[in-house]
Amino acid sequence: MTIQWFPGHMTKARRQIEDKLKLIDVVIELLDARVPLSSRNPMVDEILKGKPRLVLLNKNDLADPQVTSQWVKYFADLGLPALPIDAATGTATKEILPRVKQLWAHKIERQLSKGINPRAVRALIVGIPNVGKSTLINQLAGKKIAATGDKPGVTKGQQWIKVGTEMDLLDTPGILWPKFEDQMVGQRLAATGAIKEELLHLDEIALFIVRYMVQHYGAALQERFGITELPEDMDNVHEVVKVMEAIGRKRGAIVSGGKVDLDKASLIIIRDLRAGKMGRISLEKP
Ligand code: GDP
Repeated sequence: MTIQWFPGHMTKARRQIEDKLKLIDVVIELLDARVPLSSRNPMVDEILKGKPRLVLLNKNDLADPQVTSQWVKYFADLGLPALPIDAATGTATKEILPRVKQLWAHKIERQLSKGINPRAVRALIVGIPNVGKSTLINQLAGKKIAATGDKPGVTKGQQWIKVGTEMDLLDTPGILWPKFEDQMVGQRLAATGAIKEELLHLDEIALFIVRYMVQHYGAALQERFGITELPEDMDNVHEVVKVMEAIGRKRGAIVSGGKVDLDKASLIIIRDLRAGKMGRISLEKP
């Protein structure tokens, strides 16, 4: 579900996360591996106030593995451990518990040294809408629990989900907002499906995708759509539109009179990208 964020919503969402933070030891920050910075809340460091944090790069099944490795290094350089995962299939999600425990090991050791039996580490998942928070909660819980309630105004009674005996996870995630002001960020989020198409025109999103594909993944684009030639000058909108038309023609997106239906072609391009039909594509590099 996509929400239109207004200053009032942001304040409310922030307050809700701050309430949850009081209950937890470690934050799990969920980002989209294809667009890690664009899917990141601009105020996240300030909001999380120095809580130990594990970054998860989700939907890694759709991202370019080479670029994802660069992102892992990028976050490591910031002092943040980052782990690429695929919440939908559970790939690498088994790694989460040991990583979270590592971040809390000093507290556990202190408890042990005082002769106290350490309790389970308490964790909270935070992230922008559609990044896969509910999917991950369900994956870690081993059953379907989380309602996809992306309404910042909705409060539910909080419950803990036991992840083994060593981690308790809050059953409702913390919902953060992306940075809408930046046009490039908006395009990346629209391309990956984090924000609804209605907020941007289909052809704008497809134009962004095709331009990026020609610049970074030309061969994959050619292979997917059987295009023989790609333009050199991607700053020229007309050249990009020509590629979109070629794709439309190849895929039968034609209106009467033989013209290409650009909206239909755009939808094909967007859907193919999101479904990984062009291969594993990252839309942002460190
Ligand atoms: P939330 O709004 O953050 O709770 O996001 P959801 O858990 O509802 O997931 C949003 C969409 O992303 C759903 O269609 C999920 O099936 C999909 N999704 C979640 N995780 C993954 C993943 O690792 N890979 C892929 N390909 N899709 C995912």
